[in-house]
Amino acid sequence: MKRHLLDQTPDEWEIGSGPSYQRSILRRWVFAKRAPSFERMTSLPSSLRAELAGRYRLRALRAVRRLENADGVQKLLWKLDDGEAVESVVIPSEADPGSGRLTLCLSSQIGCAYRCAFCASGLLGFRRNLSSGEIVEQLLQAEAIVGRRMDNLVFMGMGEPLANWDSLLRALRLITAPWGAAMSPRRITISTSGLVPEIRRLADQPLAVGLAVSLHAADDALRSRLMPVNRRYPLPLLLDACEEYSRKKRQPVTLEYILLAGVNDSDKEGARLGRIARRLRAKVNLIPYNRVEGLPWERPEPERVDRFERLLRAAGCRVTVRRRKGEEIYAACGQLRLITPGDSPGGGESVPPSRGTQVLRPPHLLLVDRPKGE
Ligand code: SAH
Repeated sequence: MKRHLLDQTPDEWEIGSGPSYQRSILRRWVFAKRAPSFERMTSLPSSLRAELAGRYRLRALRAVRRLENADGVQKLLWKLDDGEAVESVVIPSEADPGSGRLTLCLSSQIGCAYRCAFCASGLLGFRRNLSSGEIVEQLLQAEAIVGRRMDNLVFMGMGEPLANWDSLLRALRLITAPWGAAMSPRRITISTSGLVPEIRRLADQPLAVGLAVSLHAADDALRSRLMPVNRRYPLPLLLDACEEYSRKKRQPVTLEYILLAGVNDSDKEGARLGRIARRLRAKVNLIPYNRVEGLPWERPEPERVDRFERLLRAAGCRVTVRRRKGEEIYAACGQLRLITPGDSPGGGESVPPSRGTQVLRPPHLLLVDRPKGE
């Protein structure tokens, strides 16, 4: 199989013995002009275009579904060469859904090896890493489909980004380089289940990307039950790594905290979370759980969510709560939400040129949007 052009950085591209400026012309076609094929790169000699097309692929993702939610959240489902499917989510800012900022939620792996008890991706098991080309392409293609540049990127889709280190770093380089997609690292957030060595390694990288840590419990016993990764990297190690990260990057980490009814939403757990957040000067992002079919967890009643939030605020923490319908999809990004034909909540549009394609064989998991008002 041909290699993806964006599995290499421009200095690694094999573009023959032509003049060196051809490399920067190619770079401009890829990133500035967003050419979808080598053929379109008309300022390169046709012999070189043919040579590149013989050696490299420029597009490996095929957009097969595009679902738009009432509040403007769009889910894009991509099919990959090997039949796997992966998705990205485009999230408009809450304040100004029409013309405000857009955040793209990216996937980094197919499936996930970390088996968090509440998460659908873990149910699927680990299939494979996405290559850097497949990661960067989610951005390039999403922008082409939506017709706008993204303002923010979050690695909160399927997979554990820090477990796909090489591809992640290469993708970040292509996305942040001035000659690349030229996005400021400050607008990028990597979310992790808590891989301590990689958090420290990322802290030593020159890239000032944001870090979000999926905490979900504030004591080791409960966290180990919900997130097996905690047995390898328990809270004292994880929190030290977070401290190092925010110190070296001079920016606070975000603590993500899914609220699971009757499991981690007690006042006692809230007080513990508050102590951790204060120590790290972290922002806390509370996420009412998005139910996964086949798993026993439920989200708390709204009153419980409010109480938990107030408790944290009273303890002096900065807290946000995801409340919008669309953000439920966002929160559920770690889930593989496969939509089967005839089962497209709110309708769905196949994206040309694959219009009418009914892919998605066989659904590993079927997760459907719950009816409004439930
Ligand atoms: N593996 C990384 C990033 C992917 S998951 C991580 O663990 O952070 C992105 C976020 O979605 C994580 O905080 C994850 O715990 C959360 N998540 C997973 N399943 C969810 C669900 N059903 N409802 C709400 N959030 C969920």
